[in-house]
Amino acid sequence: MKITKCFCGGVTNDTKILKNGVKMKVQKCAKCGEIYVSGSEMLRYDIIKGKSSIARKIRKSGDSLIVTMPKQIVDKFGVHNGDFVAFEPNEKEIKIKIVHAE
Ligand SMILES: [Zn+2]
Repeated sequence: MKITKCFCGGVTNDTKILKNGVKMKVQKCAKCGEIYVSGSEMLRYDIIKGKSSIARKIRKSGDSLIVTMPKQIVDKFGVHNGDFVAFEPNEKEIKIKIVHAE
């Protein structure tokens, strides 16, 4: 969601800040300097800083990109080595379905 008005009555503009080494797209009030951060940008910050336990970094392996599965997901869904994942893309997200081999 884009905020265009600050509580002080000022107008906010898109800008970038550096927070603990992470570049963030934020809204900054031109009048009082208040900074507004969207929920998705905060989530992105937490993931980059390693504060999200269900996020994994995508890595390169040969010509493929690979991603590991968090232990709590493995445990909850009973995922085993050799099982499959099916990707179901929607407009903005991808749903990952576990398909058991046995
Ligand atoms: Zn303001």
